[in-house]
Amino acid sequence: MEKYTGKAAYQGIAIGKIAEMVKSDGTVRREHIDDVDAELARLAAAKEQAIDELQALYDKALKDVGEAHAEIFQVHQMMLDDDDYNESIEEMIKEQKVNAEFAVATTGDNFAEMFASMDDEYMRGRAADIKDISTRLVTDLQGGGGSANAFTEPVILVADDLAPSETVQLDKAMVLSFVTRAGSTNSHTAILARTMNIPALVQVPIPKDVNGKMAIVDGMKSTVIVDPDEKTLAEYKALQEKEIEKKKLLNEMKGKDTVTKSGRHIKLYGNIGGVGDVAYVLENDAAGIGLFRSEFLYLQNEDYPTEEQQFQAYKKVAELMAGKQVIIRTLDIGADKQIDYFKLDKEENPALGFRAVRICLERDEIFRTQLRALLRASAFGNIAIMFPMIASKWEVETCLKTLESVKHELMAKDVPFKKDISVGIMVETPASVLIADELAELVDFFSIGTNDLTQYTLAIDRQNQKLERFFDAHHPAVLKAIQMTIDAAHRHGIWAGICGELGADPELTETFVKMGIDELSMSPSSILRTRKAIRDMD
Ligand code: PEP
Ligand code: MG
Repeated sequence: MEKYTGKAAYQGIAIGKIAEMVKSDGTVRREHIDDVDAELARLAAAKEQAIDELQALYDKALKDVGEAHAEIFQVHQMMLDDDDYNESIEEMIKEQKVNAEFAVATTGDNFAEMFASMDDEYMRGRAADIKDISTRLVTDLQGGGGSANAFTEPVILVADDLAPSETVQLDKAMVLSFVTRAGSTNSHTAILARTMNIPALVQVPIPKDVNGKMAIVDGMKSTVIVDPDEKTLAEYKALQEKEIEKKKLLNEMKGKDTVTKSGRHIKLYGNIGGVGDVAYVLENDAAGIGLFRSEFLYLQNEDYPTEEQQFQAYKKVAELMAGKQVIIRTLDIGADKQIDYFKLDKEENPALGFRAVRICLERDEIFRTQLRALLRASAFGNIAIMFPMIASKWEVETCLKTLESVKHELMAKDVPFKKDISVGIMVETPASVLIADELAELVDFFSIGTNDLTQYTLAIDRQNQKLERFFDAHHPAVLKAIQMTIDAAHRHGIWAGICGELGADPELTETFVKMGIDELSMSPSSILRTRKAIRDMD
């Protein structure tokens, strides 16, 4: 029995087998092989695994974002079965006696080059797909498996680190817990763990040889126990039962108002990253969605999601929420949320760089496509639009001007949408706090992004694990900024909420209510606990 301690990104207990997430480093070496049959068998097994992974990705995408978006994984399955592609790989293994990885990578490059030089635009577009399936095959040959969708039972996923783009691809039903050797508790991967309601630890010095071993993740003590003895296992199973009982007790809060004893109502909303998370919001009886991080739709995709794909996703969320408010934040990528197909330059200071609304203001067509999808979906429910990372008045004015222009475009085509759609901004830069009075005149609500507000107020990179000691979201400067924002909102007759992680901090619930907060939006798993705290308040 071995114990390793790190930092908890989310509490709870998980018991299960460890699966190490092996990531291919992308390098493929040419190696001589003697046993051709064994190499062909290895290739066949990897191909079968890749096809299974693609099927799982197809099923997941179908459920989360619909047929149009899922189709690509079927196309990839067909490509993996293509005779010419397979013959080329097998010939190389047989004739040149090279390892399967090398044969796959070389064939992939050759085929991609051939497709890229074709006249037909559709065929040219297939070059990227050929590269993609070849990379998947190479990863599987190298024992990566890459995707949690390949797991046959729920596992404790161990990795050096997880990028948000990797985390969103995981099959949530197959992951009991995340444990990473690096990573920060303020990262988006940690936020996703909270949404998924699973214990997650970061900065755990767990060795590399733990794959397949039984383990316990204790989110309260921030430890992982590998190979627990019978007694420890029994103790934790009992603790886990108690946790389940506690959750059941909180179920009593379902259907009740979020109101203090003195009669102040607080809107208690949930944060989501995609259509699949609405289930958690409904399960925990949130009054609405206060933050739909729309960028996760982009992170899951291999190319810009089309207007139709986005429309379907937003419409589905609006319909599932059946008239309750759904606040959808426009694209907020950059910093730790990187997407290859955006082809953003490497930056010295990504947190201070080309991100969020700055990208939308520079790349008009991406912005307009999203706004069209959002407005069209607004005809199917109570959608509100929110712009992230605002620092200046002109940014809001330009966003609103673009929104007006898109509205006119839709009106000219008789496309229905919610004419009086509510529009808000995230207050997450010190600049927006300081000019909150002016900004409040332009919008219908403020939602305070305490994750970034803490980062920018204290000048501390939220991703930098070495600085966690200094990242104090309870810092008086942060709390003062929150109070200033709420006061400015109220002076101008609009509401103010918090959608950053601090909104769910039990130590601050009472403080926020006293400050006059109107809405708190959080990981769905924190909603019932917060409702109880507010109902117990005078
Ligand atoms: C925030 O900054 O508090 C926020 C909610 O946005 P994100 O965490 O996605 O940057
Ligand atoms: Mg933010």
